[in-house]
Amino acid sequence: MDYAVIADAYRKIESTTKRLEMTDILVDLLRNTSKDIVTKIVYLTQGKLYPDFVGIEIGIAEKLAIKSLVRASGRKESEILSDLQKTGDIGQVAENQLAKKKQATFFSKTLTVEHVYESFDKMAKTTGSGAVDMKTAVFAGLLSDASPKEAKYIIRTATGNLRLGIADMTVLEALAIAYGGGKEARGPIERAYNICSDLGRVSEILVREGLDAIKKMQVKVFEPIRPMLAERLPSPEEILEKLNGKCLAEYKYDGERIQAHKQGNNVALYSRQLENISSQYPDVADLIRKQVKAQEAIFEAECVAVDIETGDLRPFQELMHRRRKYDIETAIEQYPISLYTFDLLFVNGKDLTCEPLTDRRAILEEVLNKNIQLQIATQKVANNTKELEDFFEKAIEEGCEGLMCKSITKDSVYQAGNRGWLWIKYKRDYKSEMTDTVDLVVVGAFHGRGKRAGAYGALLLAAYNKEKDIFETVTKCGTGFTDKDITDLHTILQNHVIPRKHARILSMMEAEVWFEPFVVLEILGAEVTLSPIHMCAMESIRKDSGLAIRFPRFTGKYRTDKSPQDATTAREVVEMYQNQLKQINQT
Ligand code: ATP
Repeated sequence: MDYAVIADAYRKIESTTKRLEMTDILVDLLRNTSKDIVTKIVYLTQGKLYPDFVGIEIGIAEKLAIKSLVRASGRKESEILSDLQKTGDIGQVAENQLAKKKQATFFSKTLTVEHVYESFDKMAKTTGSGAVDMKTAVFAGLLSDASPKEAKYIIRTATGNLRLGIADMTVLEALAIAYGGGKEARGPIERAYNICSDLGRVSEILVREGLDAIKKMQVKVFEPIRPMLAERLPSPEEILEKLNGKCLAEYKYDGERIQAHKQGNNVALYSRQLENISSQYPDVADLIRKQVKAQEAIFEAECVAVDIETGDLRPFQELMHRRRKYDIETAIEQYPISLYTFDLLFVNGKDLTCEPLTDRRAILEEVLNKNIQLQIATQKVANNTKELEDFFEKAIEEGCEGLMCKSITKDSVYQAGNRGWLWIKYKRDYKSEMTDTVDLVVVGAFHGRGKRAGAYGALLLAAYNKEKDIFETVTKCGTGFTDKDITDLHTILQNHVIPRKHARILSMMEAEVWFEPFVVLEILGAEVTLSPIHMCAMESIRKDSGLAIRFPRFTGKYRTDKSPQDATTAREVVEMYQNQLKQINQT
C-alpha cells in the first residue's frame, strides 16, 4: 500500500478537532488497507512500531533527523535550522525543504507503508558502534524517496512528533465500524484490548478471524492486562451504601503498582503504565521465582519501600530511588522493598478475570508461599461504618494511604482497563478541606524572574476531561519546587514545547510557552473554588464559571507512571468541589 494514502489520511485528521470526523477518516483508512498491513497502520497511526510493553521505539533524535534531511534534500544545514527556528515543526521543515528539491529533480519512486515500517524497525533495532551512521543512511534514503508531503509525516513519526491526537478509544471505535459490523462491536473489541494491551494484535485478529475470535480472546502470560482502577468517595457511609452494605477493605499501600507475570522461571514485571520494569526490580523477580508456587501466574501487587530492620513501611519517595538504570545492586541494598499482593488474574492456563474477587483471593492464598517480603494486603470484611473507620485509622497508623474498599458480590469481576465502583478508595485526605492531592498535566509556562530567570517561574496545569478528550486548565502553580526541580523541569519540558496552544488544551489564560500534554505532576491544593478564568468543568456548577485549585503546591512527586489521560479528571474536580460543600454544610 502506498504511504501516500496514510499521509493523506493524517493530513485530513490534522485539519479537524472533531472526534467523530477523526473516527470517520480512520474508518476509511482501515477499510482501504490490505489485511496484511492493518497492524502496521494501527501502530504507525499511534506513532509506534509495537505495543508499549515491548519497549522498542523508533526514537530518532532531532539532530540525526536534521542530518538525514540535509543529505536527502541537498540543502544547507543552516537553512534547515533557520526554517526550524521559524516553524518549530520538523515535519513542516522537511516538507518545505524537500519541495524545493523536488521541483528541480525528476521524481518517480513510490513509497510503500511496508517499506516505511521496515525502515523504522531497522533504525529502532540498530544499536552499538556505527549505529548513528547506519540510521542516518537508512533515514536519509527514506526521506529521499518520499514526496514532500510524505516526508512531513515520516519525520514526525520518527522523531516522536506525530501527535495526531488519536486516543486508543478512537482506534477501537474505528475498528468496530470498519471490521466489527458496527459500533455495537466496540464492547468486545475493547475488552480484547483491555486484556492484551495491544491494539495491533486486536486489529489483526479482528481483520483475519472476525469478531467471534475477538470474543474468545483470553488473558495470556507476558501480555500485560490494562489495570482495574478505583473510584473515590469521602466517607465510610457512602462507600458502604455503594457496595451493598458490605465490602472487603484492604490497606492501601503507598508504593508502585506492579503486575507480575510468571511462567516457570521466566518473570516479567509491568508498571501501572504497562512498561516492562523487570530490569529495575531483579530482587522482585527473584522473590517471585522462589515464592510463587504456580507454574504460571499473573498477579498484582503494590511494591513498597520497607525498613528491613523493623518491617515498617517507608514513604513513597524512598521507592523513587529504585527508578534507575544503573547501579541497581546498590539501590536494592539501600532501598529494600516488600510486595503486598492484592489480586490474581490468571493461574496455570486459567483466566480468572471474570471470577468474583473472593474466589480470586482464595486461589491467591494457595499459590503464594508468603514470607516477610511477599505478603497479601492486610484485609478485613467490613459490615458497618465503625468497622471501616477503625480499620482505616489502623491503616494510616501503619504507614498506608488509607483503604481500598472492594465489592464482594457475585459480580465483582476484574474490570480490566476500567475505573468503576467495584473498587473505591478511601484516603485520609478527604477528611480535611482539600489536602487531597491531584495529578495535573503541565500545558503551559510563564518565564521566571530573579533566581528563576532563564527557567520557568510558574506552570499552567490542567485536568483531563475524559468525555471530551481534552485538557482544561485548573490552576497556575509556582510553589513547592526546589532549585533542582526548576532546572529539571526546564530540561524535561523543553522536549514538549509547541509553537502554539495544542488543539486539545482548553485555556482562557495565555501562557508564555505552550507544551503538548505530557508531563504529569502531583499537586496539593488548599481548596477547589469557582473560577472565571480556569476552564475545568466549565459551567458544570455555575454559568460562566469553571473550577480552580487555590494555593497549589508541587508535592515533589513527578507522576512519570501516569500518562496525561490518567491525570485527575474534570469530573473528579467537580466531585471534590461538591464534597467540600458537604463538609462545610456539616460543620
Ligand atoms: P489511580 O491508579 O486510581 O489512577 P493513583 O495512581 O493516583 O490513581 P491512588 O488514587 O492513590 O493512585 O490509588 C490507586 C492505587 O492504589 C492503585 O493503582 C494501586 O497502585 C494502589 N494500591 C495500594 N494498595 C492497593 C490495594 N490493596 N488494592 C488495589 N490497589 C492498591
